[in-house]
Amino acid sequence: MTERVQSCRRCGTCCRQGGPALHRGDLPLLAAGLPPLADLITVRRGELVHHPLANTVRPAEVELVKIAGSGRQWTCRYYHDGCTIYDRRPLACRLLKCWDTGDVEALIEKDTLTRLDILPGDHALVPAILFQEREFPCEGFAEIHAGSEEPSQELVAELQGRAGAELRFRSELVARHRLGLGEELFYFGRPYFQLLQGLGFAVAEGPAGLVLSWRGRHRGAR
Ligand code: SF4
Ligand code: SF4
Repeated sequence: MTERVQSCRRCGTCCRQGGPALHRGDLPLLAAGLPPLADLITVRRGELVHHPLANTVRPAEVELVKIAGSGRQWTCRYYHDGCTIYDRRPLACRLLKCWDTGDVEALIEKDTLTRLDILPGDHALVPAILFQEREFPCEGFAEIHAGSEEPSQELVAELQGRAGAELRFRSELVARHRLGLGEELFYFGRPYFQLLQGLGFAVAEGPAGLVLSWRGRHRGAR
């Protein structure tokens, strides 16, 4: 019997579906400065994420830190006609074999790194990250995503208040710590109002701050 040998053709199809989540096995890479924090994006627990193997959207069960996309695209920012960090690519990329996804499936949301795993405990922004998790949680997003009814006015008002407060919170920290956009996305993930847009809310700027309204289900969140 002839065994069929397959190997990565480096076609980039998997890289175009988004950068990988980082795992404990990537700590030596991070210690060596790769990827830099500004190339990472945090996906907070409860955020809706695209599950590449099942090709579905579902809430993240744990916080994830991923290599960010390029610009507004989800394509991994290290993909430019091939992986530009191939010899130092993260664990999930080294294990991914699109013709046999067992290894990488076993890795999904297991031994993943959080912001607090990556940052030293005495980092100046650790208290802010803890505050964000406490005051602006993403819990409940799954119910909104799965719900068949329009959210109640009370819920819309609550989320509107939270989105406005989260924007003020992060803007103040971005200014105080002079964070670039890449660093902001690592330290705080995407703004709360953007996450709500992915759930089906329209967000506008009014004289008193952000104004939220329900525009209907949008299943394309990632
Ligand atoms: S793992 Fe598969 S999809 Fe990804 S680059 Fe290699 S051949 Fe392409
Ligand atoms: S790090 Fe390299 S192999 Fe991994 S998704 Fe990005 S471009 Fe592809």
